[in-house]
Amino acid sequence: MIWRDKSLLSPGEGGVYGERMRGGYRVWDPRRSKFAALAHLDPGFDLEPGTRVLYLGAANGTTVSHVADYAEVVYAVEFAPRPMQDLLAVARRRKNIIPILADAGRPAQYAHLLEPVDLLFQDVAQPHQAAIAVRNRLFLVPGGRLALMLKVRSIDQSRPLDEVGDEAVAALEAGGFAVDSVRPLTPHHRDHLAILGHRVA
Ligand code: SAM
Repeated sequence: MIWRDKSLLSPGEGGVYGERMRGGYRVWDPRRSKFAALAHLDPGFDLEPGTRVLYLGAANGTTVSHVADYAEVVYAVEFAPRPMQDLLAVARRRKNIIPILADAGRPAQYAHLLEPVDLLFQDVAQPHQAAIAVRNRLFLVPGGRLALMLKVRSIDQSRPLDEVGDEAVAALEAGGFAVDSVRPLTPHHRDHLAILGHRVA
């Protein structure tokens, strides 16, 4: 990914959501995007050109638009109709975003629209976030990467982050993933853990 003086940039056409531009590139703000926050916190987390991405929890396409600046294709799943309207407008300006109005917990709804992907990125505020990732695992190529932004307070209001995180890791490992790292997204996002792994089964 493209960096200038500790700013993460992406190389697409600007004006998607009022983002700043710098030297002709779009500034990708870690406070507005968990994907960007993870890239800031983990120097090993990269998005190579040619990557095919399944993005669960696309919302209005803010982060999706930056991912699409690098990726070959982004399958962007969102179940709420209002943000989907914004996502459709974003997708009209990019050739490689496939917007999908569907419940990420019911992948049979969109299986027929996908090709195998290299990266499964998930950012949904739901109680059963690990189970949703496991249900979508078969869309990944063998060895394909998982980046799960675990919103801990959607699972439990009060228990410590690492306790809830450990349970999610156990569920992912029981469901066919190997987990490579777990890190909080502070200072950019509170009460979130970024869980990185890959498909093993
Ligand atoms: N990733 C977005 C970004 O960085 O621009 C923000 C995502 S927002 C925190 C979570 C989104 O997930 C919401 O738009 C919500 O409607 C969506 N969502 C929650 N549960 C979902 C589900 N089961 N299937 C699809 N989308 C879901």
